[in-house]
Amino acid sequence: MILTDTHTHLYVEQFDLDRDAMISRALNAGISRFFVPAIDSTYTSAMHQLKSNHPEHVHLMMGLHPTHVKDNYQLELEHVKTQLEEHDFVAVGEIGIDLYWDKSTLNAQQDAFIYQIQLAKMHNLPIVIHCREAFDEIFDILEDEATEDLRGIFHCFTGNLTQAQQAISYNMTLGIGGVVTFKNGRIDQFLNQIPIEHIVLETDAPYLSPTPFRGKRNESAYLTHVLDKVAEIYGLDQNTVAEITTENSKSIFNI
Ligand SMILES: [Zn+2]
Repeated sequence: MILTDTHTHLYVEQFDLDRDAMISRALNAGISRFFVPAIDSTYTSAMHQLKSNHPEHVHLMMGLHPTHVKDNYQLELEHVKTQLEEHDFVAVGEIGIDLYWDKSTLNAQQDAFIYQIQLAKMHNLPIVIHCREAFDEIFDILEDEATEDLRGIFHCFTGNLTQAQQAISYNMTLGIGGVVTFKNGRIDQFLNQIPIEHIVLETDAPYLSPTPFRGKRNESAYLTHVLDKVAEIYGLDQNTVAEITTENSKSIFNI
């Protein structure tokens, strides 16, 4: 079984004490493809270090996370642009809009999101979208920016069925993570109405641990709990879900 964690922040400080052991636990659980989103420039060297330690399993993205769009965001975007020119990345992410933490930066977040979508188009890379309390704002931008060639993932998808269908209409795949295992997570109610060709699996480690680890540090090995729940929802066995969602990830990331 080959499982793909399409969203895992393996380089962050929460893993400094046991990073290699944590990655080994994931490999032993069948997760062998790790797609690693960026946050901001302070993590870039840790990301490259991670890649050089695990070149066959780790695939890096580059981008500025919406909650890290601050006064210096133009400089951060310059960094993203330069990195994309100088290194191999598999996606521009994670990018998007987050109105849960800070509504005052909406204009800057919109500006940064549009700019980074354009970088993705220039490099023919997929985008990985972070959306929190901002579906309307994100869809407004995708309405203008979506093209046949632009593809990507709506990471940690937490919307309703209509929003899921709208995301898919823009060539976006739904990233399904720990929330699907939560009692009040709601997406388990309609997910089986979405063809499985439109979903990928993720942990968002170290955040959003699935049940029964909810509230604790998340890690990529826990992707199996997401897999179990998704298999139950679709009435498929785990191997089939692993295979299909890994294939889905290959067509998005081209790797
Ligand atoms: Zn993330």
